[in-house]
Amino acid sequence: MLIVQKYGGTSVGNIERIKNVAKRIVKTKEQGNDVVVVVSAMGDTTDELIKLAKQISENPPKREYDLLLSTGEQISIALLSIALHELGYEAIAFTGAQVGILTTTDFTEAKILDINTSKIKKELSKGKIVIVAGFQGVTEDGDITTLGRGGSDTTAVALAAALKADICEIYTDVKGVFTSDPRIVKDAKKLDLINIDEVLELASAGAQVLHPRAVIFAKKYKVPLVVRSSFEDDQGTKIVEEFMEGLVITGVAIKTDEAKVTVLDVPDVPGIAAKLFSEVAKEKINVNMIVQGTSRNGLSEINFTVPKKDLITLKSIEEKIKSSIKCSNIIYDDNIAIVSVVGTGMRSHHGVAAKVFEVLASRGINIEMISTSEIKISVVVRMERAEEAANALHKEFKLSEIEIKTE
Ligand code: ADP
Ligand code: ASP
Ligand code: MG
Repeated sequence: MLIVQKYGGTSVGNIERIKNVAKRIVKTKEQGNDVVVVVSAMGDTTDELIKLAKQISENPPKREYDLLLSTGEQISIALLSIALHELGYEAIAFTGAQVGILTTTDFTEAKILDINTSKIKKELSKGKIVIVAGFQGVTEDGDITTLGRGGSDTTAVALAAALKADICEIYTDVKGVFTSDPRIVKDAKKLDLINIDEVLELASAGAQVLHPRAVIFAKKYKVPLVVRSSFEDDQGTKIVEEFMEGLVITGVAIKTDEAKVTVLDVPDVPGIAAKLFSEVAKEKINVNMIVQGTSRNGLSEINFTVPKKDLITLKSIEEKIKSSIKCSNIIYDDNIAIVSVVGTGMRSHHGVAAKVFEVLASRGINIEMISTSEIKISVVVRMERAEEAANALHKEFKLSEIEIKTE
């Protein structure tokens, strides 16, 4: 079998752990498999690198920022390769650029366009274990890019797709995908199976355990995907196409990296939203939730959320927006969180939204924005009430008692 394994930052957080990961890889190799390994930077390395840049500049040039951030993974791949050699195994480590992971030029959020698998295949055929740096790629012009925070998962799944691997295993610091973040909801339950659409919504709604684009790749290229612990022996969570029987809600997620933007006194005439959001889009800022209030005296209010990291850019075009849409003011609030409940069962059950709002109301948690999709209900609340909201919703939908059966 050809197996792609990905080890996250905590799993390679120190030398002892790197040695353990090496042993796990050897075990897989000894079972007769070809192994390609993707690793993240050690522990908090990426955060530390960001801190260094921010000590110099609030808004570093994105190309140099990516050049800096990509170094974290270069350290971990080299150390892991050294550890494998020490155990007597032939391994070879590659950065994204060395192996030919071609991306767009969207520095800090680049998208993989193509992967040249010939080098990897050549090394595998020599019996070597191939190690690839996660989270990074290279543009046609040879500039180093990164794929967005948490992007090593995407490297792994994209490689698995390109190599037509038999399985892609994501090794992390929890046993698998849970009904909510086990660090926040103490009785969250690990799911043995989860539907791929649900895991995609959970990932997009802030469940860090998988990078959303990794799930998109897995769905598009039908990559068999499993999330497992690198510390414990557990079968983990298998991502499947089937839907689970009888479940209304499968998970609750919290997203804390978005900010709310309120545009005040917007003239209530056609074309205003188009003007506003095209200015935002020109800056490559992804807008998540959007709510427009009803108009009073010909003026209305538009609220939307954007990634906190893009606030500086958004503020830099504030005057341009004001003069383009003639609003009175723009207010920024980064003390919010988005809490979401996800479940394909919502398609056939009524009253889920009402229940969500009742649970929050009974605790006096104010809902500032609401958005829904076919299988997700998201609300914006104050940051300090988010964990309480997630716990209350998890309890109301009895997620700690969930039993998984496939249809
Ligand atoms: P890695 O470095 O291995 O990629 P991450 O920190 O990116 O690990 O993701 C794993 C973390 O995701 C867990 O430690 C957990 O706190 C968090 N998490 C959030 N939501 C979930 C969920 N629904 N299931 C499992 N883990 C989750
Ligand atoms: N090291 C990168 C990050 O911290 C990528 C990853 O861990 O997946 O975001
Ligand atoms: Mg991660």
